[in-house]
Amino acid sequence: MTTTDPAGPRAALLDRLRGCYLGDPRPGTLPGGRTEALRQLRAYDPAAYCRTRNHLSGTVSRLSPYLRHGMLSAVEVRDYLKARFPNDPARLEEFLRQLAWRDFFEKVLAWHGRGLDDDLEEPKHAVARSARIPLDVLAGDTGLPCVDGMLRELFTDGYLHNHARLWFAAYLCHFRGVRWQLGAQLFRQHLYDGDLASNSCSWQWVEGTFASKPYFMNKQNVATFSGGKWCDTCTAKCPFDADYPELQHRLFAGSTAPFGSRSAEREARNEADTPPVSSDDIGPVPTATDLVWVHDAAMSWDDAALKANPTAAAAFAFDEPALRVEPWAYHRLAFVLDGLDDLFAHLPNPTKLTLVGDPAERLTALARQLGATTLHVSEHPNPRVAETAEQLRSSFRVVVHPRPAFAEYPHEPKRFSRYWEKVAPQVLGYRPKSSKRMHQ
Ligand SMILES: Cc1cc2nc3c(=O)[nH]c(=O)nc-3n(C[C@H](O)[C@H](O)[C@H](O)COP(=O)(O)OP(=O)(O)OC[C@H]3O[C@@H](n4cnc5c(N)ncnc54)[C@H](O)[C@@H]3O)c2cc1C
Repeated sequence: MTTTDPAGPRAALLDRLRGCYLGDPRPGTLPGGRTEALRQLRAYDPAAYCRTRNHLSGTVSRLSPYLRHGMLSAVEVRDYLKARFPNDPARLEEFLRQLAWRDFFEKVLAWHGRGLDDDLEEPKHAVARSARIPLDVLAGDTGLPCVDGMLRELFTDGYLHNHARLWFAAYLCHFRGVRWQLGAQLFRQHLYDGDLASNSCSWQWVEGTFASKPYFMNKQNVATFSGGKWCDTCTAKCPFDADYPELQHRLFAGSTAPFGSRSAEREARNEADTPPVSSDDIGPVPTATDLVWVHDAAMSWDDAALKANPTAAAAFAFDEPALRVEPWAYHRLAFVLDGLDDLFAHLPNPTKLTLVGDPAERLTALARQLGATTLHVSEHPNPRVAETAEQLRSSFRVVVHPRPAFAEYPHEPKRFSRYWEKVAPQVLGYRPKSSKRMHQ
């Protein structure tokens, strides 16, 4: 007997997920799923990556949404490209160095856990930060064609080029004085690749709480790397139109504002209302001794926990309490739903279910119904995964399946340049001539 999704079809599932997403259901702009991820990987050639990657029109891969959801792993991207373009550093070195940023940030998350929500280091300036994103920013109507253009792309395309992310983050933190955490949340909700590690670390890098200095840009930088697409016709009074020393002075000099209080931030977060949690109405399911929990960063039939357990029941759980606090834009949700359809279509497992609710509660109820005694999950640095596994451990045997490592780095990950110096030979297979340190 094959049991597929009792929470499907999609309309019924969307009904269950009401309150967990923003906007109305409409066709997504990006298909989700490992099948599409593999197609895009095979079609990608980083030949011009090093030369063009900082330009909005550069040949970047746009693989991040698939990497974020584990539809592809960084290890397989690395190994596939090295096998396809052997002994070709001009083509691969810069791309693999950028890919390593993802691994580095995951190591930062693994090291700090929930501490990543707070400043990792003392700010390098004393400018006050606001706890609200101004309405004109949320409406994408700041009057600056570049910023409004970036916001339009964020809200409708769910993707921003890395340079645009840097510019927008610098605008929101330094030019509008907003706390980086709010920008990070906005990105997580709207980006297809919205991610705890890469996102929070990058915002902290821009703010200067995970870097030796804050990042900001001037008009010339925006004009050059955007190909003039906004600046050439812009008539707005440009806040970025100055040289760097002048901007540095305007943004950070002479400030006597107090530093933000970390404990106040923590309290504010804890005070957020926890919404009621719904329960799944799981119909009859065949018995199974093993249950694989597929979390949202392990959506691949090549995933370790799934591969090791082809006859176990498999269940994906939408984390309803978390999504009610921080709902995803509909296109993000649609991308994950596509990914689930694709995953379930490829899995040999006889029972495949989608749950909605608190993952530990829902998985416990399902495991009891199945008669399962062992739960399997793939390792991930997201603290929610480890916390859920820990909760499940009180009732079940829990097996955490390790992920193949992109690079071994057993030290505290503090600066990418240090990390890259150590891991580059593992990633590239040789020691590169220079270890460039720039983020962009
Ligand atoms: C403020 C800010 C927020 C960000 N938020 C996210 C996020 O939520 N999720 C996310 O996946 N990335 C995030 N990034 C990192 C980076 O912008 C994206 O990974 C990258 O732009 C994705 O596009 P791509 O796949 O075409 O990248 P490519 O340039 O083709 O790079 C290939 C892969 O390398 C990795 N990579 C490249 N650059 C970076 C980088 N600077 N940091 C980390 N990994 C990198 C990504 O996995 C990417 O898919 C953020 C960057 C900034 C500045």
